[in-house]
Amino acid sequence: MTHTNHKVNLLDFDLPQLKELIFTWGEPAYRADQVWGWLYRKDVPAIEDMTNVSVTFRGFLDAHSFIDRLTVHTAETSVDGTRKFLFLLPDGPGIESVLIPERDHLTLCISTQAGCAQGCRFCLTGKSGLRRNLTAGEIVGQVMAVKRILEPGQRLTNLVFMGMGEPLANYDQTLTAIRILNDPAGIGFAYRRLTLSTSGLVPQIDRLGQDTKINLAVSLNASDDATRSFLMPINRRYPLKELLAACNRYPLPLTRRITYEYILIKGVNDSPQAAHRLTRLLKPATSKINLIPFNPHSGSDLVPPDWDTVLAFQNILVKGHYTVIIRKSKGGDISAACGQLQGRIRPLEPQTGLSSVN
Ligand code: SAH
Ligand code: SF4
Repeated sequence: MTHTNHKVNLLDFDLPQLKELIFTWGEPAYRADQVWGWLYRKDVPAIEDMTNVSVTFRGFLDAHSFIDRLTVHTAETSVDGTRKFLFLLPDGPGIESVLIPERDHLTLCISTQAGCAQGCRFCLTGKSGLRRNLTAGEIVGQVMAVKRILEPGQRLTNLVFMGMGEPLANYDQTLTAIRILNDPAGIGFAYRRLTLSTSGLVPQIDRLGQDTKINLAVSLNASDDATRSFLMPINRRYPLKELLAACNRYPLPLTRRITYEYILIKGVNDSPQAAHRLTRLLKPATSKINLIPFNPHSGSDLVPPDWDTVLAFQNILVKGHYTVIIRKSKGGDISAACGQLQGRIRPLEPQTGLSSVN
């Protein structure tokens, strides 16, 4: 790509890329470190605010680049404290991020695509297909924008790539975003505080393990191929055996485990047999299992199991020595819960027809 004829968004580059860019402009690479600090430590909105950068170089930056920040369009707060933020992209689509306060964590769930092409049967985000990939600047921009409007004393502790879209289907921009977020001279999220969730794109899981040390979460949702292919078309391309082999070779540090997400859907994947099969499929020492009762929404006839079935399913896994958490979906009342993100501007009157499983 040539950067000479059009202006580039400075927020789309990780630090090595920014150094390279500034080097190709014939300027010394240390300038990139200065610019980086202004962008991610000081969070300045404009090049002219980079006051320790020489006026000549600022003029140069102005001629070749700009800072295209994302700003929150609307925010909604759930009765449980979850907050959902809508961002409007310049070309039209909306994307959402969800802020989830927990006792000692403040987690932001960010989007990597407007829409999603994977078409999972249970997920509202995928219903209208993929609008487009987000740029690295738009992925990181969600974090920066939310940081700006946190309440005094609030600090983001964790980031999860679990909002709209399949991050590994937008691999390059997601990787650049991870590198920007992880860079210690900038936003500085340690890898252990970053988690990427995928529906299971096997080659990209391997690449991710080579390129980063980010935590991996896998949307599993079934313990046999027929059920998984019914729920998630990606399973026809990368069936369970291949997916789990990729998970097993994912090079996480010994103290960390892969999270397997399992949405429980009544009559589809919630039987004791399915739970027993799951105990044989994974390894307790390297896995954590999150059970998520299906969140009903207008785009699907699926329903969650009753609570006893959820507990019975959990019990089988616990007896198999797994760490199992039942994840109560948060923010159901504002459609901020898992699988409910659509990036639409909703009317302000109260929503009907959506119920939460809390
Ligand atoms: N595309 C990636 C990351 C984001 S998907 C992935 O599939 O892993 C958003 C998350 O919401 C996934 O963990 C998915 O399993 C979950 N999800 C989607 N629809 C849901 C629903 N109706 N109820 C509960 N969880 C849902
Ligand atoms: Fe896409 Fe994930 Fe939703 Fe599947 S669950 S459609 S991969 S966002």
